[in-house]
Amino acid sequence: MDLKEYQGKDFFRRYGVPTSEGRLARSLEEADEAARALGFPVVVKAQVLVGGRGKAGGVRLASDAAELADAARAILGMDLKGHTVNEVWIEPASQIRHEYYVSLTLDRAARLYLLMVSSKGGVDIEEVARTDPGAIARVHIDPIDGLSGDVIAQAIEQAGIGEGREHMPEVLGALYRAFTEGDADLVEVNPLVVRDDGQLVALDAKVTLDDSAAFRHPEWQAYRADEELDSREAIARARGLNYIGLDGSIGIIANGAGLAMATLDVVQQVGGRAANFLDLGGGAGAETMTAALDVIAGDPKVQALFVNIFGGITRCDDVARGIVAALDSVELRCPMVVRLDGTNAREGHEILKGVVSDRVIVETTMVTAAQRAVEEARRASA
Ligand code: GDP
Ligand code: MN
Repeated sequence: MDLKEYQGKDFFRRYGVPTSEGRLARSLEEADEAARALGFPVVVKAQVLVGGRGKAGGVRLASDAAELADAARAILGMDLKGHTVNEVWIEPASQIRHEYYVSLTLDRAARLYLLMVSSKGGVDIEEVARTDPGAIARVHIDPIDGLSGDVIAQAIEQAGIGEGREHMPEVLGALYRAFTEGDADLVEVNPLVVRDDGQLVALDAKVTLDDSAAFRHPEWQAYRADEELDSREAIARARGLNYIGLDGSIGIIANGAGLAMATLDVVQQVGGRAANFLDLGGGAGAETMTAALDVIAGDPKVQALFVNIFGGITRCDDVARGIVAALDSVELRCPMVVRLDGTNAREGHEILKGVVSDRVIVETTMVTAAQRAVEEARRASA
């Protein structure tokens, strides 16, 4: 799970990484109230999961209420690289003396953590990596040894950190705790600034949490609630489906994550592209099938549906009854190709006979069904 800046800063604070106190605002009134409580000047920052907000106009300074209103009006509701801004984070503006870059990630190839530090912060780090790779210190950390004083000294030295270096060990130590104890896959601070009072403060926060560790972090619930989801993904999650939107034209419904993945592959193999990944999960009764059809039928990209079911514990006759019942309540905009195999497949096919038409097509193998769905989608868009 990726965190927005304000969530990332909340996460940082738990582990002692210094940040500024701030407030979240969703309207002009809330922004005004927040800024007055915090004290001017403030910085107003768009909360969306994209980088380069500064350059794109999503970060503005305001020294009084009038400037704040201008900034909040400009940023709230703006489209930032395809994301609509619904929230701004407001914090007291920092007087910046220097901007550094710091990050911790897992270097899978090396099987070690990777600490990166640069004195060229505040700018696009990929750009620095391209034009001036020597400006980024890269130091590996063995997870068994942890972050040693040697590693820190090496990073500070290589990166040429001057001002604020005396605070670096403490800040890096806190960031390392956030990364390890906090079960993050990535923590990135750009910029980590030296304020005019000499303190080091994380002015930005980019954090990716390791979803596999969610079970031991009940505090992540709050982040989850605010997670940005494609509206169809939100509906699907609320109805217990495992759905991910993609950009092709074949709507996929399968039972089991493995089969759903295989279905995507087969569709690709026969020249089509999936509009989504959808795993019905364990049951595939009328209710689940209706939910799945609802979600997918509402996707304007979908030109044909491919329902691919393998009955193991789930029986094909139950699935077939589910499909028949779902078709009573969901209007099909496009043809649906069904492939049922496994437990009680024959009974399932018998039940489907009642609904087979030029819109509901039954195929017996995964490949022929995929081919048929791709053909139907082509015909629909021709
Ligand atoms: P990003 O562009 O999405 O990475 O957003 P950042 O949070 O990194 O902000 C972009 C830039 O805005 C920073 O590199 C700073 O130069 C500037 N900025 C952010 N907060 C402050 C602040 O409190 N005071 C000042 N003077 N500049 C700030
Ligand atoms: Mn940044």
